[in-house]
Amino acid sequence: MSIIADLINFFQSFPGIGPRQARRFVYHLAGSEPKSLEEISKLLVRFHKEVSRCSTCFRIFEGKSNECVVCSNPNRDDSKLLVIEKDADLENMERNQIFDGRYHVLGGLLSPLRPEIQEKLRLKELYKRVEANKKLGEIVLALSATTEGDMTKRYIEKILEPIIKSRKFKISNLGRGLSTGTELEYSDRDTLKHAFENRK
Ligand SMILES: [Zn+2]
Repeated sequence: MSIIADLINFFQSFPGIGPRQARRFVYHLAGSEPKSLEEISKLLVRFHKEVSRCSTCFRIFEGKSNECVVCSNPNRDDSKLLVIEKDADLENMERNQIFDGRYHVLGGLLSPLRPEIQEKLRLKELYKRVEANKKLGEIVLALSATTEGDMTKRYIEKILEPIIKSRKFKISNLGRGLSTGTELEYSDRDTLKHAFENRK
């Protein structure tokens, strides 16, 4: 494929970016100074070198260690695990200091329209973590209140059922302080706190 078509495809893979916007990005790049193109390629190389994905919770972070600051912090509460869709949601929870337990970033939500996404989500990894963590008392599903979020919740409850039967921990969902379709990424502290305290 041509370089222009390749770049359009690349931008189109970004969340919320359609073919027309992707094309505009490429034309914008074509009109940029050679210097700023060099700058972008340097930034991408740096990004690749300096950003890691945590081997435990799967969030991305700046640094080269195996685990992020949350997973490597011995003072976090091992009895609580918060399952979240994406990195931006986790960042917002951390920024607002709502939660003192551990996280698991799924990397997306199940979708009736895109069944292939199931393979990309860290569901097996979630199962293994839950199975291995004997201190676990509660799993909080902090997924958005959408068709996809609900589908994912039901699926997680189903795959964890055999473990729940043999051990005592509960699965809760964030309270509906988060209105339908509201994403965790954009909620303010009061809304998050309310949703967390009213989990059931
Ligand atoms: Zn981590």
